Amino acid sequence: MKYEDAPDLKERMNEIITMLNMGHIDINRIECIRSFGSSTRRTIARCHTLGKLMQKAMKTKAFYAIEFLEKFDRLDKNEQDKVIIHELMHVPRTFGGGFRQHDFVCEKNIEVMYEKFVNLKEKKEAKQANLADFEDRIEKKKSYFFWK
Ligand SMILES: [Zn+2]
Repeated sequence: MKYEDAPDLKERMNEIITMLNMGHIDINRIECIRSFGSSTRRTIARCHTLGKLMQKAMKTKAFYAIEFLEKFDRLDKNEQDKVIIHELMHVPRTFGGGFRQHDFVCEKNIEVMYEKFVNLKEKKEAKQANLADFEDRIEKKKSYFFWK
């Protein structure tokens, strides 16, 4: 197995955390890692954590790592976003080193979160586009006054 930091995925994950208001997730204690050479065929990503005993022994707080297997990069961007959301949903509210199980992290709940993310992202982009348009008009006005 080979592991690599995935700062590009961390950035996308941070955006999802912010958009979906997942305030219980400490972005300084969660990392994204790409892994290569796994023999599991069905797994796309998985969530790891530092359990309670290790936290105690290491005198440290919980930490989470989301592992993205090679298959992940072959999915389209929307599917990838869903996978990121799925893995984030495994992190419990307590951020204590456990997991939420698939009774909560199920197709239906993931879909709800994904739709919410897409809507908020569209709104944000529309706002930015409006702002850019507005600034553009101001610029034009400025040059208009300038040339007059
Ligand atoms: Zn899962």
